[in-house]
Amino acid sequence: MTRRDKARRIQAELDALFPEPAVPLGHVDPFTLLCAVMLSAQTTDLRVNQVTPALFARASTPAALAALPEREILACIRTCGLAPTKARNLRRMAELLVERHGGVVPRALEALEALPGVGHKTASVVVSQAFGEPAFPVDTHIHRLAARWGLSSGRNVVATERDLKKLFAPESWGKLHLQLIWFGRRYCPARGHDAAACPICSWAAPRRRRARAAGGRSG
Ligand code: SF4
Repeated sequence: MTRRDKARRIQAELDALFPEPAVPLGHVDPFTLLCAVMLSAQTTDLRVNQVTPALFARASTPAALAALPEREILACIRTCGLAPTKARNLRRMAELLVERHGGVVPRALEALEALPGVGHKTASVVVSQAFGEPAFPVDTHIHRLAARWGLSSGRNVVATERDLKKLFAPESWGKLHLQLIWFGRRYCPARGHDAAACPICSWAAPRRRRARAAGGRSG
């Protein structure tokens, strides 16, 4: 099976399993999504969704967040990993949105990546999920899945993003990103399991990977 055939079959499988994948982070607009994605680094989505209601009740616009003292932001997000750094970045990001972008989240990847605490993956999630722009955010989990399924060489996330973008149509990138997140959450356990029972690894993974997973290691 060629890589492209495999990609087509994987996409059909994901469409059947997750026809309408939801954005896992609670938000109401591009700005609150940007804040939530920034908070999600090294923190579970569940934890982020626990802290954002209190934060957004205090400040749900760039101007309001920029006006909030850093210690008050920190108090809202304290239970997230790297909270002090995130509080600092959130406030500075909000200030720069006001200063440079009229208090509006920009749609361009480069403009977003120029904000503190906003890397390529975070910017890709925002342009994709908030604006419907073609972007394919690749986190370490998606990176691993793409390598397991033989869709990418798995050298690094940059190469994986490039390989996935070649295999799938741009209009499907945002949905695939979400489908892969939900697939991993539902099917990929942290510890060993039977790859033969996996709806995708059972046929897409190279034989030696399937054997390893069956022997007690995941994927
Ligand atoms: S075999 Fe396991 S780790 Fe690999 S994709 Fe399937 S469920 Fe996930």
